[in-house]
Amino acid sequence: MQRSSVSYNLLPMHKPAAAGSAARETTVRESLHHALLEGAATARDLSKLVGIPEHDVASHLEHVERSLSHKGETLVVDPAACLDCGFEFTRRHRFTRPSACPNCRGRRISFPRFRVVR
Ligand SMILES: [Zn+2]
Repeated sequence: MQRSSVSYNLLPMHKPAAAGSAARETTVRESLHHALLEGAATARDLSKLVGIPEHDVASHLEHVERSLSHKGETLVVDPAACLDCGFEFTRRHRFTRPSACPNCRGRRISFPRFRVVR
């Protein structure tokens, strides 16, 4: 079973960019960056820490990761893993949790954790 689509590609591209929202997004990403430097966190942790919806975390992480290369920092992803067979989702660089294990089809999948290292 191939699941090549990723959820953050489904974000609406036609949304008009308001001047205020750009500033707000910068603040969110700075807060995310700060939280990631503090230690490993799941998307749910980050949504609470930064005050954004959990389903928005992945797209913000993408931008944070892009900005890190200029700072000599790296976004480290501790991959999601199957709790039934131990399969780790290391081969795809995804910020969202897979829904099922390709190895055993189990649905008990741990959440990926994110952190920033210098
Ligand atoms: Zn499995």
